[in-house]
Amino acid sequence: MQQSMSRPFSVTVYCSSSNTVADMYFALATSLGVAIAERGWRLVFGAGSIGLMGAVARAVHANGGRVYGVIPHALDTVEITYRESDELVKVATMRERKALLESEGNGYIVLPGGFGTLEEVAEIIVQKQLGYMDRPIVFLNVNNFWSPLLEFFENLIEQNFVKPQNRHLYYVTDSAQDALDYIGNYYPKSTHPMESGEAVRTALE
Ligand code: AMP
Repeated sequence: MQQSMSRPFSVTVYCSSSNTVADMYFALATSLGVAIAERGWRLVFGAGSIGLMGAVARAVHANGGRVYGVIPHALDTVEITYRESDELVKVATMRERKALLESEGNGYIVLPGGFGTLEEVAEIIVQKQLGYMDRPIVFLNVNNFWSPLLEFFENLIEQNFVKPQNRHLYYVTDSAQDALDYIGNYYPKSTHPMESGEAVRTALE
Protein backbone atom coordinates (compact mmCIF):
# COMPACT_ATOMS: atom_id res chain seq x y z
CA MET A 1 0.00 0.00 0.00
CA GLN A 2 1.23 3.49 -0.81
CA GLN A 3 2.13 5.88 1.96
CA SER A 4 3.12 9.51 2.06
CA MET A 5 6.82 10.36 2.44
CA SER A 6 6.09 12.79 5.24
CA ARG A 7 4.32 10.53 7.68
CA PRO A 8 4.42 6.92 8.86
CA PHE A 9 1.83 4.39 7.83
CA SER A 10 -1.14 5.22 10.01
CA VAL A 11 -4.24 3.51 11.31
CA THR A 12 -7.20 5.48 12.58
CA VAL A 13 -9.01 3.86 15.49
CA TYR A 14 -12.60 4.75 16.33
CA CYS A 15 -13.75 3.54 19.74
CA SER A 16 -15.59 4.16 22.97
CA SER A 17 -14.91 7.09 25.27
CA SER A 18 -16.56 5.23 28.18
CA ASN A 19 -14.56 4.22 31.24
CA THR A 20 -17.16 1.73 32.44
CA VAL A 21 -17.30 -0.88 29.66
CA ALA A 22 -16.26 -4.49 30.34
CA ASP A 23 -12.61 -5.34 30.93
CA MET A 24 -12.48 -7.50 27.80
CA TYR A 25 -12.91 -4.37 25.67
CA PHE A 26 -10.04 -2.62 27.44
CA ALA A 27 -7.93 -5.73 26.87
CA LEU A 28 -8.78 -5.60 23.16
CA ALA A 29 -7.94 -1.89 22.97
CA THR A 30 -4.61 -2.51 24.68
CA SER A 31 -3.69 -5.44 22.44
CA LEU A 32 -4.52 -3.36 19.36
CA GLY A 33 -2.32 -0.51 20.60
CA VAL A 34 0.56 -2.93 21.25
CA ALA A 35 0.18 -4.44 17.76
CA ILE A 36 0.11 -1.00 16.07
CA ALA A 37 3.32 0.02 17.85
CA GLU A 38 5.04 -3.30 17.10
CA ARG A 39 4.48 -2.72 13.38
CA GLY A 40 5.98 0.76 13.63
CA TRP A 41 2.68 2.30 12.56
CA ARG A 42 1.21 5.53 13.85
CA LEU A 43 -2.07 5.69 15.77
CA VAL A 44 -4.56 8.34 14.64
CA PHE A 45 -7.43 8.88 17.04
CA GLY A 46 -9.79 11.36 18.68
CA ALA A 47 -7.21 12.37 21.35
CA GLY A 48 -9.23 11.16 24.33
CA SER A 49 -7.47 9.90 27.47
CA ILE A 50 -10.72 8.26 28.52
CA GLY A 51 -12.30 4.89 27.78
CA LEU A 52 -10.95 2.61 25.07
CA MET A 53 -9.45 5.66 23.34
CA GLY A 54 -7.03 6.22 26.19
CA ALA A 55 -6.28 2.50 26.47
CA VAL A 56 -5.23 2.23 22.80
CA ALA A 57 -3.07 5.37 22.97
CA ARG A 58 -1.31 4.40 26.20
CA ALA A 59 -0.54 0.94 24.80
CA VAL A 60 0.93 2.45 21.62
CA HIS A 61 3.16 4.74 23.68
CA ALA A 62 4.15 2.02 26.16
CA ASN A 63 5.51 0.08 23.20
CA GLY A 64 7.41 2.89 21.55
CA GLY A 65 4.79 3.88 18.97
CA ARG A 66 3.66 7.28 17.75
CA VAL A 67 0.29 8.93 18.44
CA TYR A 68 -1.58 11.59 16.45
CA GLY A 69 -4.66 13.01 18.18
CA VAL A 70 -7.25 15.50 16.98
CA ILE A 71 -9.76 17.10 19.32
CA PRO A 72 -12.27 19.96 19.05
CA HIS A 73 -11.66 22.94 21.36
CA ALA A 74 -14.96 22.30 23.14
CA LEU A 75 -13.83 18.83 24.28
CA ASP A 76 -10.28 19.90 25.07
CA THR A 77 -10.07 19.71 28.87
CA VAL A 78 -7.44 18.41 31.24
CA GLU A 79 -9.63 15.42 32.10
CA ILE A 80 -10.36 14.40 28.55
CA THR A 81 -7.46 15.23 26.24
CA TYR A 82 -4.62 12.76 25.81
CA ARG A 83 -1.90 15.42 26.17
CA GLU A 84 0.90 12.92 25.64
CA SER A 85 -0.04 12.71 21.93
CA ASP A 86 3.11 13.24 19.83
CA GLU A 87 1.02 15.38 17.51
CA LEU A 88 -2.03 17.04 19.05
CA VAL A 89 -4.24 18.98 16.66
CA LYS A 90 -7.04 21.18 17.99
CA VAL A 91 -9.90 22.01 15.66
CA ALA A 92 -13.05 24.11 15.82
CA THR A 93 -15.67 21.47 15.08
CA MET A 94 -16.42 17.75 15.26
CA ARG A 95 -16.71 17.79 11.47
CA GLU A 96 -13.16 19.06 11.07
CA ARG A 97 -12.03 16.40 13.48
CA LYS A 98 -13.72 13.64 11.49
CA ALA A 99 -12.15 14.95 8.29
CA LEU A 100 -8.66 14.71 9.82
CA LEU A 101 -9.34 11.32 11.37
CA GLU A 102 -10.16 10.17 7.85
CA SER A 103 -7.40 11.92 5.89
CA GLU A 104 -4.59 11.05 8.32
CA GLY A 105 -5.34 7.31 8.27
CA ASN A 106 -4.24 4.71 5.72
CA GLY A 107 -6.93 2.46 7.14
CA TYR A 108 -9.61 2.44 9.82
CA ILE A 109 -10.41 0.13 12.72
CA VAL A 110 -13.71 0.25 14.55
CA LEU A 111 -13.54 -1.01 18.13
CA PRO A 112 -16.64 -1.29 20.30
CA GLY A 113 -18.20 2.12 20.89
CA GLY A 114 -21.37 4.15 21.22
CA PHE A 115 -23.00 6.92 19.18
CA GLY A 116 -19.75 8.80 18.58
CA THR A 117 -18.14 5.69 17.13
CA LEU A 118 -21.25 4.87 15.09
CA GLU A 119 -21.28 8.33 13.56
CA GLU A 120 -17.61 8.09 12.64
CA VAL A 121 -17.87 4.68 11.03
CA ALA A 122 -21.07 5.53 9.15
CA GLU A 123 -19.30 8.51 7.62
CA ILE A 124 -16.27 6.61 6.37
CA ILE A 125 -18.43 3.81 4.95
CA VAL A 126 -20.40 6.39 2.97
CA GLN A 127 -17.18 8.11 1.82
CA LYS A 128 -15.96 4.78 0.49
CA GLN A 129 -19.34 3.83 -0.99
CA LEU A 130 -19.38 7.06 -3.00
CA GLY A 131 -15.76 6.70 -4.11
CA TYR A 132 -14.30 9.66 -2.25
CA MET A 133 -11.70 7.29 -0.85
CA ASP A 134 -10.76 3.64 -1.09
CA ARG A 135 -9.06 2.60 2.12
CA PRO A 136 -9.64 -0.46 4.32
CA ILE A 137 -12.30 -0.35 7.04
CA VAL A 138 -12.33 -3.10 9.69
CA PHE A 139 -14.87 -3.86 12.39
CA LEU A 140 -13.14 -5.53 15.35
CA ASN A 141 -16.00 -7.76 16.31
CA VAL A 142 -14.82 -9.16 19.62
CA ASN A 143 -17.53 -10.83 21.74
CA ASN A 144 -19.79 -10.37 18.65
CA PHE A 145 -20.17 -6.76 19.74
CA TRP A 146 -20.94 -5.52 16.22
CA SER A 147 -22.95 -8.57 15.07
CA PRO A 148 -26.41 -6.99 15.59
CA LEU A 149 -25.34 -3.98 13.50
CA LEU A 150 -23.81 -6.21 10.82
CA GLU A 151 -27.04 -8.22 10.73
CA PHE A 152 -28.94 -4.99 10.27
CA PHE A 153 -26.65 -4.16 7.34
CA GLU A 154 -27.70 -7.53 5.82
CA ASN A 155 -31.31 -6.44 6.28
CA LEU A 156 -30.51 -3.26 4.34
CA ILE A 157 -29.06 -5.36 1.52
CA GLU A 158 -31.98 -7.82 1.51
CA GLN A 159 -34.43 -4.95 1.12
CA ASN A 160 -32.34 -3.24 -1.58
CA PHE A 161 -31.39 -0.20 0.48
CA VAL A 162 -27.74 -1.19 0.04
CA LYS A 163 -26.18 -2.92 -2.95
CA PRO A 164 -24.86 -6.44 -2.22
CA GLN A 165 -21.36 -5.50 -3.43
CA ASN A 166 -21.23 -2.80 -0.76
CA ARG A 167 -20.96 -5.58 1.80
CA HIS A 168 -17.27 -5.50 0.81
CA LEU A 169 -16.81 -1.91 1.92
CA TYR A 170 -15.80 -3.28 5.30
CA TYR A 171 -14.05 -6.33 6.71
CA VAL A 172 -14.97 -8.07 9.95
CA THR A 173 -12.65 -9.94 12.31
CA ASP A 174 -12.25 -10.63 16.01
CA SER A 175 -8.45 -10.47 15.88
CA ALA A 176 -6.39 -7.28 16.17
CA GLN A 177 -3.50 -8.85 14.23
CA ASP A 178 -5.83 -9.96 11.43
CA ALA A 179 -7.29 -6.45 11.28
CA LEU A 180 -3.82 -4.94 10.86
CA ASP A 181 -2.82 -7.59 8.30
CA TYR A 182 -5.92 -6.73 6.26
CA ILE A 183 -5.08 -3.03 6.38
CA GLY A 184 -1.41 -3.57 5.56
CA ASN A 185 -2.23 -5.79 2.56
CA TYR A 186 -5.09 -3.72 1.15
CA TYR A 187 -4.84 -2.49 -2.41
CA PRO A 188 -7.30 0.19 -3.50
CA LYS A 189 -9.21 -0.44 -6.70
CA SER A 190 -8.35 3.06 -7.82
CA THR A 191 -6.07 5.54 -6.09
CA HIS A 192 -7.97 8.59 -7.29
CA PRO A 193 -11.55 7.50 -7.86
CA MET A 194 -12.84 11.07 -7.83
CA GLU A 195 -10.63 12.14 -10.71
CA SER A 196 -12.77 10.35 -13.25
CA GLY A 197 -15.96 10.51 -11.26
CA GLU A 198 -16.48 6.91 -12.31
CA ALA A 199 -16.74 5.47 -8.80
CA VAL A 200 -19.34 8.04 -7.83
CA ARG A 201 -21.35 7.40 -10.97
CA THR A 202 -21.29 3.64 -10.33
CA ALA A 203 -22.36 4.11 -6.74
CA LEU A 204 -25.30 6.28 -7.79
CA GLU A 205 -26.50 4.15 -10.71
P1 AMP B 1 -18.58 7.12 21.83
O1 AMP B 1 -18.53 5.90 20.94
O2 AMP B 1 -19.93 7.76 21.88
O3 AMP B 1 -17.98 6.87 23.18
O4 AMP B 1 -17.66 8.20 21.13
C1 AMP B 1 -16.32 7.92 20.90
C2 AMP B 1 -15.90 8.45 19.57
O5 AMP B 1 -16.41 9.76 19.37
C3 AMP B 1 -14.38 8.53 19.51
O6 AMP B 1 -13.85 7.81 18.39
C4 AMP B 1 -14.11 10.03 19.47
O7 AMP B 1 -13.52 10.42 18.24
C5 AMP B 1 -15.43 10.72 19.66
N1 AMP B 1 -15.70 11.20 21.04
C6 AMP B 1 -16.90 11.18 21.62
N2 AMP B 1 -16.86 11.70 22.89
C7 AMP B 1 -15.59 12.04 23.11
C8 AMP B 1 -14.90 12.63 24.21
N3 AMP B 1 -15.51 12.97 25.34
N4 AMP B 1 -13.58 12.85 24.07
C9 AMP B 1 -12.95 12.56 22.96
N5 AMP B 1 -13.55 12.00 21.89
C10 AMP B 1 -14.85 11.73 21.94
